[in-house]
Order: sequence, then C-alpha cells, then structure tokens
Amino acid sequence: MTDTPETPRDFIRQIVAADLASGKHGQVVTRFPPEPNGYLHVGHAKSICLNFGIALEFGGLCYLRMDDTNPLRESAHFEEAIVDAVRWLGFDWGPRLTHASDYFEQIHGCAIQLIESGKAYVDSLSPEEIRAYRGTLTEPGRDSPCRTRSPAENLDLFARMRAGAFADGEHVLRAKIDMASPNINLRDPVLYRIRKAHHQRTGDAWCIYPMYDFAHTISDALEHITHSLCTLEFEDHRPLYEWILDNLDLPSRPRQIEFSRLNLAYTVTSKRRLAALVESGEVSGWDDPRMPTVAGMRRRGYPPAALRDFASRVGVTKKDHQIEMGLLETCVRDELNRNAPRALAVLDPLKVVLHNWPEDHVEWLTAPNHPERGDLGERSIPFTGEIYIERDDFMEDPPRKFHRLKPGGEVRLRHGYIVRCDEVIRDESGQVVEIRCSCDLESRSGSDNPASQRKVKGTIHWVSASHAVQAEVRLYDRLLATERAEARDEDFRAGLNPASLAVREGALLEPALATAAPGDVYQFERLGYFVADRKDHAPGRAVFNRSVTLRDTWAKIGTSA
Ligand code: ATP
Ligand code: MG
Repeated sequence: MTDTPETPRDFIRQIVAADLASGKHGQVVTRFPPEPNGYLHVGHAKSICLNFGIALEFGGLCYLRMDDTNPLRESAHFEEAIVDAVRWLGFDWGPRLTHASDYFEQIHGCAIQLIESGKAYVDSLSPEEIRAYRGTLTEPGRDSPCRTRSPAENLDLFARMRAGAFADGEHVLRAKIDMASPNINLRDPVLYRIRKAHHQRTGDAWCIYPMYDFAHTISDALEHITHSLCTLEFEDHRPLYEWILDNLDLPSRPRQIEFSRLNLAYTVTSKRRLAALVESGEVSGWDDPRMPTVAGMRRRGYPPAALRDFASRVGVTKKDHQIEMGLLETCVRDELNRNAPRALAVLDPLKVVLHNWPEDHVEWLTAPNHPERGDLGERSIPFTGEIYIERDDFMEDPPRKFHRLKPGGEVRLRHGYIVRCDEVIRDESGQVVEIRCSCDLESRSGSDNPASQRKVKGTIHWVSASHAVQAEVRLYDRLLATERAEARDEDFRAGLNPASLAVREGALLEPALATAAPGDVYQFERLGYFVADRKDHAPGRAVFNRSVTLRDTWAKIGTSA
C-alpha cells in the first residue's frame, strides 16, 4: 500500500478520508487531551503525531486540550512541560490551546440539563456503599435509594453541592442509566464529585468537579471534534460517551475511535510509574535521559523528526503489542546519521607518544564535518607528538583479526598519520600507561605524497593531549533489566537495570567541541551519537550524553537473555 491520500495507511485515516469524501464532515477536527499530572511519554508522542498528523494531512484542525478536571493531581508546571513537549515535537495548535476547565460553566449546565430531564440524580451513599452497590462483572448492581429523588430535590441538592454546603464525598451526581447493564461504565456512573481543592486555573471558583468521561465528551462536542481518538482501554467507555451525546443538547456529535497503546520493551509507558521513579529519586527527574518521556528523549539528543518517524513506522492498529526499542533507536540513528557533524573523542584515554615527531610541532589537519554533507563544512584538528587513543584500541596480545594498535603493528590515526607501536610502558602494577610509537611522517591522510595512500588495516580515533577538552560523558542503557515491566506496581521498581547509567569523568574531546552549545549533537566517530547536555553542559564544563550507539545492540541483548 502506498502512502497517498487515496489509500490511507491506517484504519483511522481511512475513516477520516471516507467521512470527508461522503461530505459527513467538511473539515476534520481532532484533539490531543493530556491530563496535566505528569510529563508526556513516548506513548503520548504517538498519540500527538496521530492527532496533529491527521489534521495536517487532511487540512483540518487539532486542539491541544488540557484535561484538568482533578485539581489534586494537576499543576501549571506539568501543563508547561506538556506544551513544551508538543511544540518541540513540531506541532502547532495555533489558537487552539484549551482546557476542560474553560468549559466548567457549560459542563455544569449540562449536568443541570440531565437533572431536569430526570437523567441524573444526587446520590448520598458513601463511596464504599456506591462501590458495593455497583455489583461485579458477573452480578448486576443495585439501585441506590436516592435514585428516585425528584428533579426538584436533585436541583436543590446539586446547587448546595456547588455552593459548598457539603464535605468531600458526602454526595455525588450520577447519571441515571442502568444498574443492571453488563457494561459497568453504564451503571449510573458518577458525573460530579465534591472536591474542596484549589484549582490551578479556576482557583476557588468551584468545589465540585466533573468526572473525566463527562467533561471529556462535552469538551469534544463543544470543540466540534469530528474524530475523538483514544486508546483501547476507553472502548468500554464508548457507550457512555454516546449516552452523554444522546441525552444532551450539544453543538456537535463527535465519534470516538480507539487504537492500541504504544508499549515499548525495556521501559515503562505509564505516567504513574514514571512519576514513582521521579519521586523515589531513582532517576534525576522527569527529563532524566533514561526516561521515555519526551523531555528525557530530548535531553538524550533524540531529534523530534526521529520521534515522528517512529510514530509513523509503528503505525496505528487495534492490536496490543510491544514495540522493540531497536526500532526507536533505528529512527534516531537514521536521523542523526544524516545530520550530526562528526568529531573525535576518546572516552577511556591511553597516552601515545610519537617519539620522532618534531618537538612542540602542531600540525592543523583539515577534516570534513560530515562524509556526505559538504554544507556542514570542515574543521581543523591539531596533530601533535603526544596524543590519546581509546584504551581498548590497543592490545598487547591481540587475537588474529585485531586491526587496531598492537606491538610492532601499524594503525592510521583518523584524518592524520600512520603510526607504529614500538614500546609499551607500564606502571609498578603492570598497567599499561603509555605507548611509544613512531610516526610515518610522509603518510598524512589526503596529502600529495604517495605514502599517504599507503593502506593499513585499521583506523582509530584520537585527540591531541595538549588541545583536548576534558569532558564528562554519560552512557545510558535500558531503564529496565527485563523486557516487560512487572505487572504489579509494587514490584516493577525491582526490575530496574542497575547499570542504566555509566559516567566517564575523564573523557577527552577534540578542541572544536569547546564551542558546542547545549543540545548540539555529534557523532563521536566509532563511539556513537552524543549530545551536549541541556542542563549541565556549560562553558568550562563539557558534559555529553550518549544518545545512541552506532549499531543496534538490542539484537544481542535478546539472544543472551
Ligand atoms: P498513562 O496511562 O501513562 O498515565 P494517560 O492515558 O493517563 O497515560 P493522558 O494524559 O490521559 O495520560 O493521555 C492523553 C492522551 O494520550 C490520551 O488520549 C491517551 O489515550 C493517550 N495515550 C496515553 N498513553 C498512550 C500510549 N501508551 N500510547 C498511545 N497513546 C497514549
Ligand atoms: Mg488518562
């Protein structure tokens, strides 16, 4: 199937296309409705790409609507983080940033409408009694004794609920549907509860707050949402969604369509669990680069285009499944490979002295910043008689196919000269502390000298000792040690990978990286992609996070586990 408007690539786009073709809707309107009670994660990113993507592709509109109906759990800080994340992902809501709380007056009016038409009542059972009366999957519920209250009595009680005459939990407003319904969501669901809490936007104007299903359905209708896209767990709520639309006088009739949640292997995609990690201090915050949050992935150096590409490759279905982390990393790698400038950096330095190099001589080599992208320019790299290489690029007693540096062997220093290992120097403990090499002074890469064409098997990266920039480099690994998080909340933290972060304090970078700005991403050749940390990288203190390795390492994990 090709990706043209005639053959939409998933079942939701097919529905949208058909509704536009049939004239059911002149314009598609979608929304992304987060609750501002935490940061957005990669699953939300999928939903954002779906909702905003459909609006863009079909010439429609998409609202960013804060579902702020629970003042106890929500905050303005979370709202700012959400707004930031959606913008960073590359989407524009124009003037359509809204809040369920913008509609509190209308939603309250809808409650009055239902009471007046005998379709809602104030219940005075305790929360425990309400639960007990609700029944179970196999047993029908029982009617509350308050179910027969007259509209007049309900209007009076509801007015006093709003006026603050009662304590939290003393009364609720319930829809009058069917206590024997096989669908528990239809057993007189609660529409409003008393909550004497300050709301981050409406302050103390309200002490009753609408429940999610009620507020959400009405908000959708008020915004003329045509297609209300949500995850599969809301499938059982759809009859309630429709009941609310059927029984109220609303300006439009949206259609709810469910799709499967995104689950990613080796991490968690539940806001509640991510919040638990933040609160327990197991990660440094919501934007810890190990977190699958949009803020964490941004700090990790993932480009927004990679996340959009990932969402599109994952697709939209009704089937519940788990996506491999390898797919996300492939998207990141593809994007960074195209755009990230190359640089030389040594994470675990071993000193190399070139004993025939002219004393104090500095030669500035020129190297392109990208093998294919001339537009990314070039830079100068200083070559001197004292350099550092990666400790594991030298082996004293290597296996046969080792093409890096070994006693008597030759290797090319990237963009520079061929060197030969003449002598190995150790400290008292026997640890190798220095390699003495001779340099083939005719062999500089790219020079006119025929010796520059001389082939040796290996090329390794390096930095000049006197010019190197010291850096802290943070290497991240999967958050969970197991593919799937434990089912029980109490247990999932035991499954955390204890080695999810390794810090290399003494890494050395080529001097061009001294001007890296927070958020700049480079490929450290042979090592992976690294981003200057947005929080901790500053003039005089270089801090880089590894975004992703150069090759997929997930396949290996799978076979050894
Ligand atoms: P969580 O389960 O992580 O707490 P949530 O559903 O409570 O998430 P909301 O802020 O209510 O978080 O979600 C906003 C929107 O994002 C909803 O439409 C929801 O269906 C969607 N969404 C949440 N998690 C995922 C996911 N893993 N995959 C796809 N969409 C998701
Ligand atoms: Mg939710």
